[in-house]
Amino acid sequence: MVISPQPRPFTYSVASAGAPFEALRSRLAGELITADDDQYDALRQVQEITVDRRPLALVRAADEQDVAEAVRFARDYGQPLAVRSGGHSLARLSMIDDAIVVDLSAMKRVNINPATRTAQVQPGATSGNLAGPAHEFGLALSTGDTSTVGMGGLTTGGGIGFMARKYGLAIDNLLSARVVTAEGDIVTASASEHPDLFWAIRGGGGNFGIVTEFQYRLAPVSQVLGGELMLPASRDVIRGYLDYTASAPDDLTTIATLMHAPPAPHVPRERVGELVLSILVCWTGSAEDGERALAPLRALATPVADTVSPIPYPRIYSFTAHQEVRHGWSIRSMFADELSDATLDVALEEMQRSTSPYSIVQFRGLGGAMRRVTSEETAFAHRERRYFVAIIAVWLDPAEDATVHQAWTRSLWRQIHHDGSGVYVNFLEEDEKERILDAYPAATFARLAEIKRRYDRRNLFTFNQNIRPQS
Ligand SMILES: Cc1cc2nc3c(=O)[nH]c(=O)nc-3n(C[C@H](O)[C@H](O)[C@H](O)COP(=O)(O)OP(=O)(O)OC[C@H]3O[C@@H](n4cnc5c(N)ncnc54)[C@H](O)[C@@H]3O)c2cc1C
Repeated sequence: MVISPQPRPFTYSVASAGAPFEALRSRLAGELITADDDQYDALRQVQEITVDRRPLALVRAADEQDVAEAVRFARDYGQPLAVRSGGHSLARLSMIDDAIVVDLSAMKRVNINPATRTAQVQPGATSGNLAGPAHEFGLALSTGDTSTVGMGGLTTGGGIGFMARKYGLAIDNLLSARVVTAEGDIVTASASEHPDLFWAIRGGGGNFGIVTEFQYRLAPVSQVLGGELMLPASRDVIRGYLDYTASAPDDLTTIATLMHAPPAPHVPRERVGELVLSILVCWTGSAEDGERALAPLRALATPVADTVSPIPYPRIYSFTAHQEVRHGWSIRSMFADELSDATLDVALEEMQRSTSPYSIVQFRGLGGAMRRVTSEETAFAHRERRYFVAIIAVWLDPAEDATVHQAWTRSLWRQIHHDGSGVYVNFLEEDEKERILDAYPAATFARLAEIKRRYDRRNLFTFNQNIRPQS
């Protein structure tokens, strides 16, 4: 193993009773926050508003050594250990009662190297933190659809972003990573160093170690043709979208959302509240070719609104700014190759009686560069799937009865899940532990379990979509 140049060789003695936080605190460059600290309540907040958990302590890591200290401490004292980067875990896994939380949100350094077109990014950086600095050099990485999502969780699960069809997943552009293992060692994982670990962290989630830095290849993207094409919702419009997006040029990546038209400046007042298919467009070719490529979508129906125009790439996040607000959610999702008329009809019907005006059903056309990577190359193996579908109940008031929204999600899910084929590990919900087997084909799962045995035999990294070590 390649140990970091300045290791702190101290090992906490299990012989001393209790968990002597003072010893840990004194060894950190960052901070150790416990319940009596002023910052505690702010730091235990995550993106999901119903999460109100009280960790034993938060290690506000300043560097990879701090992360290694926290890991050794948790290991030696048998303390549960959770990991937080951007705090957007859909399964609410980054804030856990009575656990030590390694909080990486202060580790958000982004270094762009324009000569090599690469970026070194710490895991607490968000998609937005990366997009701005990369844009200064006319570069970009396809990450996710919301600027506040952390690169730590997003990348280790895969990362399906605005340019997935042109440049693949975030992991398809990952060149190497620094990883703190369950033993507290700090290693580099890449094609040539710890290649198995490198394979596993590209889609296997947080099971194998804590990534303290990613090195990505960036794409030469400055301007895109981007914005929102809002169409009246109907089965024909959704069908037209699905048919076109699966065969469109790779330069066109879209995210289509069945939603109630919001009271926004670009939405005619009389159309607010109407059920629409909002297609977020990101075209990476020339504007002229883009207009041609968009014509079939614009021809599906007379648009309710159309804001698609040439924009600097980071501005694409302005179209999802509402998702940056902390909210409550209930989710079910799936990959699919075909979606029946019955599925589209029931999605339309259930959206008409959704329990919250903010709830959505999302369709993403996949393929392109994402599909050209073989299923064996990374732990994210659902490369062939044509669509990603997510039912997301969304509410903004923590006092609302979550069970009402969950019932809506589950009812729609029961009616459409048979069209699904696999699930994206980063979109699994808290109550879907058994669906981890849908997140990976059998051979991928077996290889992940074997690598887990080698890197985390005792399952220290357990608050994730957990893959148990092969016995
Ligand atoms: C509003 C919203 C929009 C989203 N849009 C997209 C999208 O467009 N595309 C997409 O692919 N996903 C999307 N996601 C899902 C997102 O990728 C996952 O929720 C991801 O886990 C969030 O990463 P985070 O660092 O913010 O989360 P956190 O809550 O900080 O972490 C989640 C989990 O990831 C693991 N983890 C986090 N950091 C590390 C690390 N440094 N090393 C090892 N493991 C780690 C841990 O198991 C942790 O429990 C979205 C989520 C939300 C809430």
